[in-house]
Amino acid sequence: MTTLIKNAHIISPDVDIQNGAVLFDGKKIAAVFLDNDNLPVVDQTVDAGGKMVVPGFIDVHFHGRSGYDFCDGTQEGMNAIGNDKIKDGVTSFLGTTLTVSEEQLSAALRSAAEYMKAPTGAKVAGVHLEGPFINPKCLGAQNPEFVRKPDIEMVKRLNAIFPVKKVSYALEVEGALEFTQQLLALGITPSCVHTAASYKDYQNASRYGFKNLSHFCNQMTPLHHRDIGMVGAGLLHDEAFAELICDKLHICPEMIKLVFKVKGAGHVQLITDAMRAAGMPDGQYDLGGMNVIVKGDAARLESGALAGSTLLYYTGLRNVYEITGYPLKELIKSTSWAQAQALNLPGVGKIETGYAADVLILEDDFSPSAVFVDGARKL
Ligand SMILES: [Zn+2]
Repeated sequence: MTTLIKNAHIISPDVDIQNGAVLFDGKKIAAVFLDNDNLPVVDQTVDAGGKMVVPGFIDVHFHGRSGYDFCDGTQEGMNAIGNDKIKDGVTSFLGTTLTVSEEQLSAALRSAAEYMKAPTGAKVAGVHLEGPFINPKCLGAQNPEFVRKPDIEMVKRLNAIFPVKKVSYALEVEGALEFTQQLLALGITPSCVHTAASYKDYQNASRYGFKNLSHFCNQMTPLHHRDIGMVGAGLLHDEAFAELICDKLHICPEMIKLVFKVKGAGHVQLITDAMRAAGMPDGQYDLGGMNVIVKGDAARLESGALAGSTLLYYTGLRNVYEITGYPLKELIKSTSWAQAQALNLPGVGKIETGYAADVLILEDDFSPSAVFVDGARKL
């Protein structure tokens, strides 16, 4: 099956082509055409009408959507999340867990394994364990009941159910440095968050290849002039990949601007950190056993602390575009390419020959009007 998306404004890392065309052959991108190139005869043609055509978004940190949390561990929930992330332009994601029991984590991973036997919507590229190996003093909206010390055997048990791609933990807790090395040896990306780690902790871990920071700035040691902390480490170290929640609530617009200015879009990973209320009306929702009140754009615990977001992925890109004014061929690195690099996901994240045909057609407000996953139209 061949598909041609013609009359496309193709935007991909360092690429901006007006009146271009993209050819899919089966699950892969087979060719990219410039204006005036001769176009092939194909099975089906989609006219993009001059709209933006970009690589599918990769959300590497979010917990739920449409009333369901990945940690519910139900097939109904997993299917709804997989299908509905498509509406936000997400073609693959990491199912992200909360600080809950191993039993509950196992159930969530089993639901992902079952879904991936015949995915109907977005692809689950793996699992992101957020917790339970965090600093109990930096909980945010994580449940203290299930916090525990780093335990590689537990990660191995979960990894046997469904691939774990990333683990977010606190670098300063007992055993964390050894845990970092053990994760890297398994090919799992180590990442730090819910942490009181000092800059020294980053330096020690970075010697082994540690370089990922989960929801950068949130639940993390801030920049101070005598210890630049994890925020300072993320800004100072070019190799560091920073995840950013760009709902304008978790991080103010000036900080978003600063992060992009210092790091460049290639080392920023836009995430939503969305909880189950994303795509749902205001009201009360559960997050890992805690009550969350959703009103307007904010999801908060009763204490007032932010408890994840309700951000839809494309809205984050629109926010960053409006805040930074950067060219889209730069910004688009932060919606898929940086994620593919940070997690060693081969063959995704670009509109280029040989890459997966995970492609979006976007309206002027960045909402997707067509979504292709492995060459098949899902929206
Ligand atoms: Zn978190």
